[in-house]
Amino acid sequence: MTAKTTAKMTATEAVRSHVAGLEPEQLPAYVYDLPALRAHAAAVRAALPERVELYYAAKANPEAPVLAALRDAVHGYEVSSGGELAHVRAAVPGAPLAFGGPGKTPAEIAAAVDAGVHRWHVESEQELYRLAAVLADRPDAVVDVLLRVNLPVGAGALDSVALAMGGRPTPFGLDPDRAEAAVRLLTEPVGPLAPVRRRLRLRGVHAHLASGLAAAEQLALVEQIVGWSARLAERHAFALDEVNVGGGMAVDYADPGARFDWTAFGEGLGKLLDRHPGLILRIEPGRALTAYCGWYATEVLDVKRSHGEDFAVVRGGTHHLRTPATRGHSQPFSTLPVDGWPHPWERPAVTTGRATLAGQLCTPKDVLAHAAPAAAGLRAGDRVVFDMAGAYAWNISHHEFLMHPRPGFHYLDGPAEDGVAVEG
Ligand SMILES: *Cc1c(COP(=O)(O)O)cnc(C)c1O
Repeated sequence: MTAKTTAKMTATEAVRSHVAGLEPEQLPAYVYDLPALRAHAAAVRAALPERVELYYAAKANPEAPVLAALRDAVHGYEVSSGGELAHVRAAVPGAPLAFGGPGKTPAEIAAAVDAGVHRWHVESEQELYRLAAVLADRPDAVVDVLLRVNLPVGAGALDSVALAMGGRPTPFGLDPDRAEAAVRLLTEPVGPLAPVRRRLRLRGVHAHLASGLAAAEQLALVEQIVGWSARLAERHAFALDEVNVGGGMAVDYADPGARFDWTAFGEGLGKLLDRHPGLILRIEPGRALTAYCGWYATEVLDVKRSHGEDFAVVRGGTHHLRTPATRGHSQPFSTLPVDGWPHPWERPAVTTGRATLAGQLCTPKDVLAHAAPAAAGLRAGDRVVFDMAGAYAWNISHHEFLMHPRPGFHYLDGPAEDGVAVEG
């Protein structure tokens, strides 16, 4: 057992008292602490120098109250589909949008041009041609483009990364040689894009290469991306206005108290910007903004011993919170003991000092936390509050599998002490 297996509780008082007040049939429930989310996002923003713009990657958690709570802290939102585009526009009207993602359909491209998205992250030459075709039909439309590039990043720099998306074969972005070709298409006065060239403005480069980087690794990556982009701009004599260096700031599920070092990151970006006067940097984190401000709360239905190990079966499971199953971790949690047992039979309890927290699905993969010491003494009827469920949780889960009911959604707002619940 390492120190890290005993999870430090992160549920705020507002969340714990709200969960304690719910009826069993109201569980499981996602509970968000919106004042905590606002405070976290404001602190992230405050750590960034002036020429760094903060966008929120909506795919991490696109729930409307979450998007709205971030509005004051972020410069804009990154969307990666026509669906996200329409949804985010409705949830936070007027907010600047960056539109990315591979495989944009002609209809999505047209809708995004009509919506006047702030920045376009172009993933291929084919996408440029499609974009040009849409512009040809809309004489007044103008789009500002960043080329998404799959850069070869320095060997070793990303070895520790959970989910590397760059520097190796992927469906994302343009390889460096294709990026050169795309720049030529956009900057040369002749060629297939020439008729709309002035309305298809190359503003810079986008790169989202990795996920799970600590601040120092992230800074090293940003240095590489900006250096490469500056050389590209110099070779082709275009003005490098902006570089979007993506998201992927680390979130450590084994240590809920740990945070990405935004202060060190902001200071490092400031030094980099001193060497690039006039350049705008943009970052688009998802997970590191919202993971900490959502919880998945539920009730223990049963506790049983199987071949020497304790299992606590909870309402819900990985069809609501798939993250631990896909990432192969134990979701950190805290427990809320519920006193009183109204039944005439014995109350089952964890007696081995640890338990595996499983859900209701008929598959051995439905495990939220494996052999967790934090489950010592847990009884049927007690409540469990899973931490770090504010990102890539509900919206990436397989909700329909086994047809269990959906969880409730509770957005706590107002002064933290009151914990006023707004039902979603
Ligand atoms: C998913 C994604 C992000 C956000 O990544 P996080 O790991 O949640 O910070 C940002 N940009 C792009 C292009 C993405 O695909």
